[in-house]
Amino acid sequence: MRIAVVGTGYVGLVTGTCFAEVGIDVTCIDVDVKKIENLKNGILPIYEPGLEEMVARNSQKERLSFSTDLPSSIQGCDAAFIAVGTPPGEDGSADLKYVLAVARSIGQNMNDYIVVVTKSTVPVGTANKVRQAIAEELEARGVDIPFDVASNPEFLKEGAAIEDFLKPDRIVVGVASTRAEEVMKKLYKPFLMNGHPLIFMDVPSAEMTKYAANSMLATKISFMNDIANLCEIMGADVNMVRKGIGSDARIGNRFIYPGIGYGGSCFPKDVKALIRTASENGYEMKVLKSVEEVNDNQKMVLYNKVNNYFNGDLAGKTFAIWGLSFKPKTDDMREAPSLVIIEKLLAQGAKVRAYDPVAIKEAAHTLGDTIEYGKDEYETLIDADALLLVTEWPEFRSPNFNVVSKLMKDKVIFDGRNIYDPAEMNEKGFTYYGIGTKQQM
Ligand code: NAD
Repeated sequence: MRIAVVGTGYVGLVTGTCFAEVGIDVTCIDVDVKKIENLKNGILPIYEPGLEEMVARNSQKERLSFSTDLPSSIQGCDAAFIAVGTPPGEDGSADLKYVLAVARSIGQNMNDYIVVVTKSTVPVGTANKVRQAIAEELEARGVDIPFDVASNPEFLKEGAAIEDFLKPDRIVVGVASTRAEEVMKKLYKPFLMNGHPLIFMDVPSAEMTKYAANSMLATKISFMNDIANLCEIMGADVNMVRKGIGSDARIGNRFIYPGIGYGGSCFPKDVKALIRTASENGYEMKVLKSVEEVNDNQKMVLYNKVNNYFNGDLAGKTFAIWGLSFKPKTDDMREAPSLVIIEKLLAQGAKVRAYDPVAIKEAAHTLGDTIEYGKDEYETLIDADALLLVTEWPEFRSPNFNVVSKLMKDKVIFDGRNIYDPAEMNEKGFTYYGIGTKQQM
């Protein structure tokens, strides 16, 4: 089989590479000339564990190629996956201009039956717009070529994207014809070996499934952050509460870790877009509005603790920050809580020295030289007034605390992800603040 993947970002590159890995002939297409040139030379635009090797292997086997030329690349394809960005517009709704530009381009250039698959996260009703855009182009050309539009939302997690794609919990596909269903079944058959279900449904339900999934996960996070904040006020320990509720199979252990708010390219924009879709259709998503509000406040929680500790006098103080990306194992800085915290510290005249295992280059696009970057986590600590743990990279979990305490000016740790044990920190002579934990002095 042969496919084109249009949009070679986090989702498009992983999708294309994983399809190539199971033997499908894949062309990844992008409008970004530099990105495509780099990929042809084995240079990846993103960090994702295992991806570089997989791209190299499949490029070498000539199952995976890269191109800026959509017109020639879609010829002879069974399917074209649209995986371009859908950023939030001014009003919070998903901006479909890239998706529809690709649809028009496909309509202008296709010569045979093809299944056009929206993999980007798009609101209910988008498949109809895609269908209409293609039909208009075919009509303008005066040709009548059959095609189908399918919805195939992506559930991969950055940092574990390959594993998620190759061994998915489930694959959701919305189709409106058996012909499209057959093509999608054939494409995904190699990924179903471990009994993971391929769930077919109608197109609007597939489009909604993605928003419902991300909104549910964001809700779990905000709910737990609310509980954590209340735990602090009431003298309870959210780490205990989490274990207590997580052992209930109906609740489960995942996505109930309190922290400093969700970020990234998906949860914030998808929650916003679903609220917007609802309001455009006369319905109010009350729970999700609160989820968003709690999250905005939570991004400030660590800064507020720092500010309280130093009695509002942050000018001239130096803060070490461990972790910049919105979560571990990615260099994605989109909507990262670190950006909010750093902006607040700098606004108060503080100095920031940060380290992240992979996201420094990406962070520097936004932060430039407003902060210093350490060459490793220890260098950030030299004469620091406090350490702020912002992203829970595995290598931050067991640092050499003797070294940490020797390097720091003031032995105080603000742990935004609760990765350290408060009592142990106390024993080691640190003043420790977690999220929703009892303060140990
Ligand atoms: P991204 O910004 O990393 O990549 C998008 C790519 O599309 C860019 O390389 C851009 O140059 C390219 N592009 C834009 N217009 C184009 C056009 N007309 N033709 C060809 N290429 C074009 O975005 P992403 O993070 O991969 O997300 C893509 C979609 O997948 C979004 O809708 C997102 O919500 C969804 N999604 C993302 C994730 C994730 O973890 N990143 C997970 C699931 C779903």
